[in-house]
Amino acid sequence: MKRFHCSCGAEIFFDNTRCLNCEQDLGFDPATLRMFTIQDAKGGFVTEVGESGPRFRLCEHRPENVLSCNWLIAEDDSHDECVSCRLTRIIPHLSIPKNVKRWRILEDAKRRMIYNLLNNRLTFETREENPEQGLVFDFLEDRRSNPLVSEEHIYTGHNSGVITINAAEADPEYRVAVREEMNERYRTNLGHFRHEIGHYYWMRLIQNTHWEAEFTSLFGDPYWDYDISLKNYYENGPRADWQEYHISAYASMHPLEDWAETWAHYLHMNDALETAVSFNVLKLEFRRDNFRQIFAKWMELAVAMNALNRSVGKFDAYPFVIKHMVYRKLEFIRRVVTEARESAAPAVFSACGSSGAPIN
Ligand SMILES: [Zn+2]
Ligand SMILES: [Zn+2]
Ligand SMILES: [Zn+2]
Repeated sequence: MKRFHCSCGAEIFFDNTRCLNCEQDLGFDPATLRMFTIQDAKGGFVTEVGESGPRFRLCEHRPENVLSCNWLIAEDDSHDECVSCRLTRIIPHLSIPKNVKRWRILEDAKRRMIYNLLNNRLTFETREENPEQGLVFDFLEDRRSNPLVSEEHIYTGHNSGVITINAAEADPEYRVAVREEMNERYRTNLGHFRHEIGHYYWMRLIQNTHWEAEFTSLFGDPYWDYDISLKNYYENGPRADWQEYHISAYASMHPLEDWAETWAHYLHMNDALETAVSFNVLKLEFRRDNFRQIFAKWMELAVAMNALNRSVGKFDAYPFVIKHMVYRKLEFIRRVVTEARESAAPAVFSACGSSGAPIN
């Protein structure tokens, strides 16, 4: 992610609604991926401090007792929610006080993932625009987090644009328990969002396109029986040599899970490299350099991140080994994303609220 500075010069962060140094209010414009100080303008609008236009409205979830969402809504956009918040269809029951916190944690991670999409010009349709396959998020509870609901088990997953997240994933104790039970190395909310959106983009960018044959040769047949693969995986565990072919054990379950896991890693890499460049940790032009160079820098950075984490008594930030086959899959995703970005027409692009220039 980009590094942001307030007009007073202080460092500000993606989630800030106010500068802690000069106390001016801040807003993030998803169309330009800029964060700036805002001032009230007439008629319920705000503008950038010192600028006469454009005008924006605040996301209705900006209040601190709700989501503290700092995203701005363009003047000609009639929605009350920003481009990220409006994608959520179902939220956990707010009569349970803990659920406000859960909702907020999930939205924070989702907003960061949506930033990745906008930054890569990966377009999406809302459910309003495409009732069959438009993107929408349901944050659902099951008995484990709310004894009053009827569902025993809610599974995090994707189906035709609908991304379901079990609201309990917002609880650190739940995440750690599941991570240990499943013998996973890494489990985060941001990771869930990046994985699930990978399924959405498979449907959008790979299925029935010229990429499908190459996808099959690299990842396997996407139409293999999913239920049988799932049953196999949970009964017998991953294949013994999964590390040679897959980024994670779970990726070995089915070609579509392999894609979603690898896609999530592409976004991890993309975002972490942008952050490192923003903070002058390394020099790289993500859009222009060749993938071999980019990948070499990523490996260098991941080793350094892990060493830094261990220095302060934390686990590895990026506990993964990337073998040649996984490199080839990441390189494929890079080509798919590059083609999608280059073919994103400005008119289509504005539909998801962004006309932004390439950033990283
Ligand atoms: Zn400031
Ligand atoms: Zn919002
Ligand atoms: Zn999946």
